[in-house]
Amino acid sequence: MGGIIKTLEALNSIAGIEVELNHDLTKFSTMRLLAAGDLITVSSVEALAQLQIELQKLKITPIILGLGANQILEKKASKPYLHLELPFDKSYLGKVRDAYTLPASVSLSILSSHAIKNGLLGWEVFTGIPASLGGAVFMNAGTNLGEIGSIVKSVKLMTINGDIRTEVIGSDSFSYRHNHFVKPGEVIFEVELIQLGIDPSISKKIKDYLELRNRSQPLKENTCGCMFKNFKDLSTTCLAGQFLDILGMKGFTVNGIRVSPQHANFMENVGNASHEEVVAIVKLVQAELKLQFGIEFETEVKMPKS
Ligand SMILES: Cc1cc2nc3c(=O)[nH]c(=O)nc-3n(C[C@H](O)[C@H](O)[C@H](O)COP(=O)(O)OP(=O)(O)OC[C@H]3O[C@@H](n4cnc5c(N)ncnc54)[C@H](O)[C@@H]3O)c2cc1C
Repeated sequence: MGGIIKTLEALNSIAGIEVELNHDLTKFSTMRLLAAGDLITVSSVEALAQLQIELQKLKITPIILGLGANQILEKKASKPYLHLELPFDKSYLGKVRDAYTLPASVSLSILSSHAIKNGLLGWEVFTGIPASLGGAVFMNAGTNLGEIGSIVKSVKLMTINGDIRTEVIGSDSFSYRHNHFVKPGEVIFEVELIQLGIDPSISKKIKDYLELRNRSQPLKENTCGCMFKNFKDLSTTCLAGQFLDILGMKGFTVNGIRVSPQHANFMENVGNASHEEVVAIVKLVQAELKLQFGIEFETEVKMPKS
């Protein structure tokens, strides 16, 4: 263990890598859970390649951390977190392009502003989703207006051996909140997005959808968005939030975690909660849903493996 810590610290000597051991990570997730761990921040593609080689030698696969809007961070993580802060010159968005080559660490909110300003058709699909572009592509994030996968043309990934792999996106690359091409340990570092035309009504559509979200979701609370995926089979879609509402779960609280009184599929950190409390309430709610409706709702939020 001491050897690994020393090696992680030694990575600080590589340009473009910053290692912070036992770092407070509470602010690194939108749920603001009590969390700490070793954080590796990477600010260039070359550094990312070198990092992958070094981590491979140590047989360490880090946890990739985007905006932390869809993952539960542990109180004391046993694996290091890898966070990208790749350079991005915002003037790149100064004009409309047919295709955009963007670093994975760019935030969707910056892209949404560009879409509102220019009426980019297709970009309304990610309205209001807090995310890094890499995290959104990994999750195939989406709303009632569609999924981000529909406007991704290609993705560049860093393999565990430090090689660059380009994935050209096809009709089977994504499904509901899921990608089918990122292999274990690979890091998305660049994404090519397309737009589907210019339509001035898109700006209003995005603004209206943002307002709707503001009214219907607890956006001022510390959450990870929807905790459970909706259940879908060939003939039906069961909305997890609706089923939780029927069970009267709104406001149900276990220690520092509360089922949102506003939207039952959101869980709010109302105290100084840690991942254990999230895991406890999730298990309880899942068991109740199974008992009452016979449906196993999977979590959409990525839970700790341990
Ligand atoms: C208030 C709120 C509302 C939300 N609404 C929606 C919504 O409407 N629709 C929706 O789909 N989601 C929604 N979410 C969830 C979340 O915003 C999305 O899942 C988003 O895509 C997560 O992006 P992120 O950068 O935070 O990724 P993280 O949460 O940091 O990571 C998510 C997963 O992606 C992996 N990952 C992240 N970056 C990379 C990378 N560069 N390479 C490889 N793997 C990577 C992580 O390891 C992890 O497994 C909401 C969340 C909040 C807090």
